Amino acid sequence: MSLYTQTIEIRDQLQSKSAEEILKAAAEKFSGKVALANSLGAEDQVITDLIVKLKLDIPIFTLDTGRLYNESYDLIAETEEKYNIKIKIYSPDAEEVEQMVLEDGINLFRKSLDLRKKCCHIRKLEPLKRALANNEAWICGLRREQSVTRSDISEVDWDEIHRMPKFNPLVEWSEEDVWKYIKENNVPYNKLHDKGFRSIGCACCTRVVKPDEDVRAGRWWWETPEQKECGLHLVNGKLERIKKAN
Ligand code: SF4
Repeated sequence: MSLYTQTIEIRDQLQSKSAEEILKAAAEKFSGKVALANSLGAEDQVITDLIVKLKLDIPIFTLDTGRLYNESYDLIAETEEKYNIKIKIYSPDAEEVEQMVLEDGINLFRKSLDLRKKCCHIRKLEPLKRALANNEAWICGLRREQSVTRSDISEVDWDEIHRMPKFNPLVEWSEEDVWKYIKENNVPYNKLHDKGFRSIGCACCTRVVKPDEDVRAGRWWWETPEQKECGLHLVNGKLERIKKAN
């Protein structure tokens, strides 16, 4: 059976299951070959807490684009210390970054959508590719209600770019659920959330959002909502998902 077909089966088995059940299933089905991509957002911190408490064999990595807030680096250190774990940090290729900056400028992402995507590609997608090279599946903290680009994600999606399943254990959680869990379990979180940030990425591409705005409105705020993905969570290079079984 192909990995894609297995993904469909697993997705159907995991419909409406709890985050704990989804994580246990990921660890069981892809033992030693599944990792959490911790973007240092509130959701991924919840998943980190669950992985540690459930004692699952799921390594954790993060991507250091070189443009993160200091608070994000502090969170890596705080999380490692609290849980006594190591978070593997992947950085972009130095020569590629130097060439990009030489050709397009240090703040190229403001000049056009294509250049913004180029920056995300070099600073995020290439390191992600390396991080996933020895894995057969990955886990992340996407939630359906986060934005228009994430409204139809499933408990497990097929990632066509990396040709492997991607588990979304918090797919059904609300933002309120995430923060309730964080407070009740004393989970470390990015202190920028206390200053009004709701989704945190690179410092130059993230800003505070108003209470009535979309969670991800502060990311690449100069772009339209449909364009607001960095490419980490695209399917077939587009915002498509495998359809749910009826
Ligand atoms: Fe570059 Fe901004 Fe993407 Fe970070 S979020 S990789 S700075 S374009």
